[in-house]
Amino acid sequence: MKTIFFFCIPAHGHTNPMLPVAKELVQRGNHVRFYSFEQFREKIEQTGAEFISCDAFLQELTTQEEKRLKEVSTTEMTLQAIRGTLAMDSFLDEEFKTYPPDVIYTDSVCFWGKLNAKKHNVPMVVSTSTFAFNQMSSQYMKHSKKELADLIFGLSKVSKELKKLEPYGYRIKSALSLVQNDNHTDSVVYTSKNFQPYAESFSDHYAFVGPSVFSNKVPNKQKKRPLVYISMGTVINDRPDFYKKCIDALGNQNLDVIISCGNATNRESLGKLPQNIQVFPYVDQLDVLSEADVFITHCGMNSVSESLYMATPLVLYPQTAEQQAVAKRVTELDAGILLNDDSIEGIRSAVLKILENTDYQKGAKECSDDFRACSGPKGAAEFIENAPHSSNCVDIIAELNKYAGRFQLWYWLIVIAAINLIGFLFGWKYTWLVGISAGLLSYPIGKAVQNKKYKSLVKEK
Ligand code: UDP
Repeated sequence: MKTIFFFCIPAHGHTNPMLPVAKELVQRGNHVRFYSFEQFREKIEQTGAEFISCDAFLQELTTQEEKRLKEVSTTEMTLQAIRGTLAMDSFLDEEFKTYPPDVIYTDSVCFWGKLNAKKHNVPMVVSTSTFAFNQMSSQYMKHSKKELADLIFGLSKVSKELKKLEPYGYRIKSALSLVQNDNHTDSVVYTSKNFQPYAESFSDHYAFVGPSVFSNKVPNKQKKRPLVYISMGTVINDRPDFYKKCIDALGNQNLDVIISCGNATNRESLGKLPQNIQVFPYVDQLDVLSEADVFITHCGMNSVSESLYMATPLVLYPQTAEQQAVAKRVTELDAGILLNDDSIEGIRSAVLKILENTDYQKGAKECSDDFRACSGPKGAAEFIENAPHSSNCVDIIAELNKYAGRFQLWYWLIVIAAINLIGFLFGWKYTWLVGISAGLLSYPIGKAVQNKKYKSLVKEK
């Protein structure tokens, strides 16, 4: 029997997949202490884990900070995670002393979990509730201008805040090193190797265990008419404008609709509902998805995994770069379509396209079979119990980095030679243009070369 500390941020999407893992570990005779927040107490206690409240350490937020968190600002989330770590420091020192843990299981963006595992030198396994992201798989993310501005302008604020952690014994290279997946850290990812982009670039330190869900249900799509389920998740879900368009698109059609609108949206504001549409603040999503024929989703990783687990094809309406990545992978596997046109007409035609074309049902069913063949919470529990793990496989990312270094060296040597040759033969007036063009091209060429090398390394593996 081991004592295992669980750490997570106050977010449904991050907490939910950890719950079946906690239950499994408890059933196997381990002592799980789950450091979380009051809103999750009941769900955590139902797993048999011991709930430890961290609400006292939540920071008072200004209106601006609250607004930025609602907009999923990476900078603001990072700043709050650092402040949370500082606030919990002496409390967690005591906890580690009083109940010495054998293993830490921490969410990938929960700084106080990751940093305290290192500070107290305890084996750590990271719970990854999205795709695992490294330099290869992050190519699936397309950051909006707003997200890029947030990252760039937030950089100095974050590094200033990070420095405050040093006197408390936390060693940190950079904020990126804290959140990005690396090939040396034991990590559980709640998807299959098939669904994870560039899965081969991850070492044996990764366990791709598939969706971690409680439901024993199997898909059951038998009913009189199709069911469409709509949800924007639990974070950016105050979207009455979008729900109204869905109601106008699907009201009085020959199908049923269930909308989960969250607590922030006032149901009255959606007006009188057509007889075929029901709106709830929260539903048992897996239950609904087991019967649904289409899911209009914001593409949160959990929602998409749950949908595919229940063989439900998707209409994809991503709002962030991470959700874009998930949406892209779903389209590659023919299990859904992007909602490029979010007008009333666009929504109706996307739903009808999914209902009328059996290819998407087939794609979703294949994903469902793939997910159900994964080891699930049981596999995650075994992986955590046996941590730390070793890895003897080729570290593809390390190989790629070496190759990229050599490529850049040769690339710039050739550019310098070309500039000199052009200058010598045709004069020096426009050679600066060659330099700038080479600079602009170095990134896309470097990426293309890296992708080619990745394929050859995977073949050799
Ligand atoms: N969820 C639910 N009922 C609802 C809406 C959401 O149970 O009415 C759950 C859903 O099953 C999923 C989580 O909330 O596990 C949402 O996580 P996701 O990663 O999809 O999105 P996020 O809320 O983090 O944006």
